[in-house]
Amino acid sequence: MTGSMIDPFGRAITYLRVSVTDRCDFRCVYCMAEDMNFLPKKDLLSLEELDRLCSAFVQKGVRRLRLTGGEPLVRKNIMHLVRQLSRHLESGALDELTLTTNGSQLERFAGELADSGVRRINVSLDTLDPEKFRSVTRWGIFDRVMRGIEAAREAGLKVKINTVALRNFNEDEIPDMLVWAHESGMDMTVIETMPLGEVDVDRTEQYLPLSELRARLERQFTLTDIPYKTGGPARYVEVAETGGRLGFITPLTHNFCESCNRVRVTCTGTLYMCLGQEDAADLRQALRASEGDELLYQAIDEAISRKPKGHDFIIDRRTRRPAVSRHMSVTGG
Ligand code: SAM
Ligand code: SF4
Repeated sequence: MTGSMIDPFGRAITYLRVSVTDRCDFRCVYCMAEDMNFLPKKDLLSLEELDRLCSAFVQKGVRRLRLTGGEPLVRKNIMHLVRQLSRHLESGALDELTLTTNGSQLERFAGELADSGVRRINVSLDTLDPEKFRSVTRWGIFDRVMRGIEAAREAGLKVKINTVALRNFNEDEIPDMLVWAHESGMDMTVIETMPLGEVDVDRTEQYLPLSELRARLERQFTLTDIPYKTGGPARYVEVAETGGRLGFITPLTHNFCESCNRVRVTCTGTLYMCLGQEDAADLRQALRASEGDELLYQAIDEAISRKPKGHDFIIDRRTRRPAVSRHMSVTGG
């Protein structure tokens, strides 16, 4: 029951991403509509249930755990969960506990995260221009995020900047962001927009293929492919001029499913075996049905046996419909 998780295609599942809340203090235009309906609080797993769920996955061979959301640091008492989970780092059962954040609360939490054994975090940032930042996040305050990044670095956390490549928004600015990140000793990853959930803007207008971005960058920088891996889907290059690393996450132009090692669980305990497919398993019911974890292990095993081979994202000018109806903030980006 507590044995490792191997899916029907022979892939070992060693990475769990947990969306601890679907709420957020930003409304990024590619991620959320401005007027979002969030889940009623009663549907959320408690912090104790989230801990039990994550711990069951650790028992089943998960070595890396990423907290995400929504914005993980706006969940009330989130540091309680982080501190609880850090026991798996101390015991050696877990290699890494990390999180993806918009940075708005980092000034407050960076020190505690570092004290709890978190070593690296991803901070999402799409522009270095405060006004553009306001327009892409709708509600975000740029200076606060900058102070958050500074606090994280001062606390000794390794920061990676995640940037969604958006046509007519930041395509001209990405070279400057790259230099800024690398000068500050931070890696950077660029991401293609994925068709997840209805938003207020037209995704076909936003979509910038990274093959095109890479060609542009190569006019200015010398990019060399390197085998560096962080356990995620990014393919990395080294940038000769800056000495730093740049990752490309290309769900649309290049399918990365063959090496998929991950599953995602939402704040209501729904397990998604693939970011780009609708099939899911309800782990909340298994969690609440008994105090022991046998039913939970059973439900996890059953779900992993249904993990699909991959997704087939397409941003299609004809249908203009999202590939899956749920937003990234629900499944956890
Ligand atoms: N709020 C946190 C943050 O922004 O980092 C964590 C959750 S957010 C959903 C995780 C990542 O997903 C962010 O880097 C965000 O830019 C990215 N994201 C959200 N919607 C996306 C979409 N439709 N396509 C590609 N990336 C998306
Ligand atoms: Fe919030 Fe992150 Fe989505 Fe932006 S990308 S709206 S910060 S969850």
